Amino acid sequence: SREFKPGRTTITVGGNVHVGNSEFVVMAGPCSVESEKQILESAELAAKGGAKILRGGAFKPRTSPYDFQGMEEEGLKLLAKAREHTGLAIVTEVMSDNDVSLVASYADVMQVGARNMQNFALLKALGKCGKPVLLKRGLSSTIKELLMSAEYIVAHGNNDVMLCERGIRTFETATRNTCDIVACAVLRELTHLPVILDPSHATGKRSLVPALSRAGVAIGADGLIVEIHPNPQKAISDGAQSLEPAQWLDMMKSLQPYIELW
Ligand code: PEP
Ligand code: MN
Repeated sequence: SREFKPGRTTITVGGNVHVGNSEFVVMAGPCSVESEKQILESAELAAKGGAKILRGGAFKPRTSPYDFQGMEEEGLKLLAKAREHTGLAIVTEVMSDNDVSLVASYADVMQVGARNMQNFALLKALGKCGKPVLLKRGLSSTIKELLMSAEYIVAHGNNDVMLCERGIRTFETATRNTCDIVACAVLRELTHLPVILDPSHATGKRSLVPALSRAGVAIGADGLIVEIHPNPQKAISDGAQSLEPAQWLDMMKSLQPYIELW
C-alpha cells in the first residue's frame, strides 16, 4: 500500500481528533468498562491528563471463559455517556462480525484485539462499518501478517486503519509480552497508516509503562493507547498494568517535552 499511496494517512476520529501526521494522540482508559462511576471517573482522568480518546472494553476477549466477559451493550451505553460528559472520542473492542453494527453505533474507533487479528470475517465486516479501525498485532504475528490483515479491511472498503504494536510472544517472561518497539519504525517505513503503541499490554506492569511510552514517542509512533484506572487494585481486568491516577498525570507531564519534539 506504500506504493499505492505515497505520503502518510491522517485519520479523523469523532470529528476533531486527527491521528497520523499532525498531532501525537493519546488514548487512555480502563481495560474494561466496569460501572458508570468507574468509566466516568476514568474519562475525567483521561481528559485531565490530555488524552483525546477514551478506551474501555465492553466485549472482552478473556483467556478463561470464567473470567469477566464485559458489560456488552450496557458498557457501550456507558462509554457514550462518558463521551457526552467529557467530549472524548471512544475506542472499544469488537470481537465478532455479528456485533460490528452494534459497536459501530456507539464507538468512534473500532478496536480489533490481538486475538482477532486474523478473524477474517470480522475484518471483512469492518471494511463496511464506516468507522476507523485500530488493528492490534496478533500475539504471535509477523509484521507482514499484520499488514495483510489491514489489507483485508482496506480491500473491503475502509481506508481508515491504525496499526497497533502491543507486544508479541517470545521466550522472555520478565514482561507480559515482548515489545517489538522497532516494529513502529518498520511500519512507518512500509506503510502510510498511523502507528499506535500499546505500552500496557506490551509490558503487563505499570512501572514500565512511562519508559516505554517515551520510547514510543521517540521512535515515531503516531500515538499511544494506555490503560489507566481510578483504582487499579480494584480493577476487574489488567489492574497490574493500569496506571494509578497520579502516575498517569505525571507520565503525561513527563512525556510533554518528547511530544513537542515529535
Ligand atoms: C485490550 O486492549 O484490553 C486488549 C485485550 O488488548 P490485546 O488485544 O492487545 O490483548
Ligand atoms: Mn487490557
